[in-house]
Amino acid sequence: MDDISWRADLHCHSTCSDGVLSVQELITLAKSKGLNGLSITDHDTIQAHTAYAIPQDFPLLAGIEFSTTFEGHSVHMLGYAYNLQSPEIIDLCQRHHFRREERNQKILEKLKTKGIIVSLDDLKEFSSENHERTIGRPHIAMAMVKKGYVASLSEAFKLYLGDHSSCFVKGDLITTEETLDVLKKAGAYSVIAHPHLVTPSGLVDKILQLNVDGIEAYYGYFAVEQHARWLKIARKRNLLVTGGSDFHGGEKTANVLGSSWTPRETFEILWKRYQENNPSLSLPPIS
Ligand code: AMP
Ligand code: ZN
Ligand code: FE
Ligand code: FE
Repeated sequence: MDDISWRADLHCHSTCSDGVLSVQELITLAKSKGLNGLSITDHDTIQAHTAYAIPQDFPLLAGIEFSTTFEGHSVHMLGYAYNLQSPEIIDLCQRHHFRREERNQKILEKLKTKGIIVSLDDLKEFSSENHERTIGRPHIAMAMVKKGYVASLSEAFKLYLGDHSSCFVKGDLITTEETLDVLKKAGAYSVIAHPHLVTPSGLVDKILQLNVDGIEAYYGYFAVEQHARWLKIARKRNLLVTGGSDFHGGEKTANVLGSSWTPRETFEILWKRYQENNPSLSLPPIS
């Protein structure tokens, strides 16, 4: 990207899902790195934007990363600038919460058959008092490390929790189409997350034929040459182009906060929509 003087990282995770840093810590880190804007995009929850006061000294854009399924494949869909009180988005987050509770329970049962004892109470430790946290496989992996069953999160995924490993459970799935419909109703811009990682890669084209507004063409640690393909598709389809690091803190340090970003012109479009969708909020100006 040419102009690096203005940068907004539109993809990172807080303790509201599987991130290591709290919402406040993420904002502080973003400021200290000289970022001009940020969106926290927790898995299947908008708590990072609803359980705290809106920062008045830094542009924090409402975001979310929904887990979806398209033709049997896992696809992550980002949503930005939505109405924070949208009943549709609140309801979808609730559905994910119940879907995950059931699925986590089933994963724990499978682990038990392997002699690995992790309880729901062990997972509750990851919940915070002031908000509901999205609990998923990363937290189960953390509990397994803590209890000494595996040496690392990646070992837990490789041996037990990964999509093709022995204790994997798909659980109920929510389709990409249904998710896009909810995002539309909530006034959000929808953006396909990390197309670099979508398999099979031809799937991205098919998904873009749905009602998708943008593509995360700049992602994490990928080299500039690897972005070119997605930029070309975005131009052809007249899509919004966003960028973000997918920073989680902790082990995934390859995705450093600010390693990919969204330029000002795009952020302005999203920021304007955020204000329009939430007229009673007083949002700070963009620097
Ligand atoms: P879930 O949403 O519960 O299915 O968990 C998926 C999340 O697990 C992903 O978003 C990643 O953050 C994390 N994850 C997937 N594979 C691995 C891995 N091999 N090591 C560590 N974390 C992983
Ligand atoms: Zn994650
Ligand atoms: Fe993702
Ligand atoms: Fe992510």
